[in-house]
Amino acid sequence: MTTIPDAPLLQVRNLCKHYPIYSKGFMRRLIRVVKACDQINFDLPAGQTLGLVGESGSGKTTTGRAILRAITPTSGQVLFNDQGRLVDIARLSTSQLKPLRTRMQMIFQDPFASLNPRMTVRNIVAEPLIIHKMAHGSELDDRVVEILRKVGLKPEHRTRYPHAFSGGQRQRIGIARALIMRPALVVADEAVSALDVSVQAQVINLLADLQQEFGLTYLFIAHDLSVVRHICDSVAVMYAGRIVELAQVDQFFEAPQHPYSRALLSAVPNPDPDMPMRINLLGDVADPGNLPAGCSFHPRCVECMDVCRKTCPVVHRLSNNRTVACHLYEPENMPVSTGDGKGINMLPESQ
Ligand code: SF4
Repeated sequence: MTTIPDAPLLQVRNLCKHYPIYSKGFMRRLIRVVKACDQINFDLPAGQTLGLVGESGSGKTTTGRAILRAITPTSGQVLFNDQGRLVDIARLSTSQLKPLRTRMQMIFQDPFASLNPRMTVRNIVAEPLIIHKMAHGSELDDRVVEILRKVGLKPEHRTRYPHAFSGGQRQRIGIARALIMRPALVVADEAVSALDVSVQAQVINLLADLQQEFGLTYLFIAHDLSVVRHICDSVAVMYAGRIVELAQVDQFFEAPQHPYSRALLSAVPNPDPDMPMRINLLGDVADPGNLPAGCSFHPRCVECMDVCRKTCPVVHRLSNNRTVACHLYEPENMPVSTGDGKGINMLPESQ
């Protein structure tokens, strides 16, 4: 355990979650390995929001769950800054992990499935405090009322059951449950995807307000880039279990560098007639258990080169500390810089 007070709240280093698939029968043979998330690297400073985006099946949820140790990573480090002590969550035993659980919470996608229909709102929201023996009696009730008010619910809602609430209200109950222990890190897994657009806006604004008030750090898993632009400080794009681009949110939306990022962004509806045409991706997302040789995006990439079919690209660090994993950023493939910092005309700082 290292003491580094100024370290980012979360440092993820080469995080992998692989699932071996064996043949049936007595002689179980390893057939293949599904790389649900592979070689994930990023820093998340305290008080900031990192958006993890990509199509379904790209490994976003697995990454979030591995970071919280809801599943055990295959390898890699998840360094959590616990009030100045750097703790590797990936290596802790269950008993060592328990006190840290109060500092890391998750908001789930489906507000209908994530709440126990047989429990009252009071019991749902109070349960984490009871499990961790952090409050009881009138103090417990006071904290439930306080957090319900913070998320825009009323104290009288305590006695009701989840079925009595709308989707947006249920998500508020889920947020209250996640925040009642005042966590430092919250993983929001598609927290607004199941909600109507108008309710989405309310919940996103609520999350932003709560971040300001409690100094929360969010890992925001989403596939809606408009939402990500609104709430996030930086963006990591995942494809087939890997991060293919990582950038500050303004840089990303101004000039996405990876061909997959450009395709994702071109699919966002935009009334501006000068915006580039939509890039139609061919085929489906790569199967993480049967990845194509070379760059896993190459069968769908409109800028595919010969090298892409044979060699997996390394991660290149561009200017402004952004990273991209693509052969286009190798010196021999770099076009002449136009000096405007846009498109792919950015020189790598290091490789
Ligand atoms: Fe496309 Fe090649 Fe870059 Fe992969 S490495 S994204 S195939 S250009």
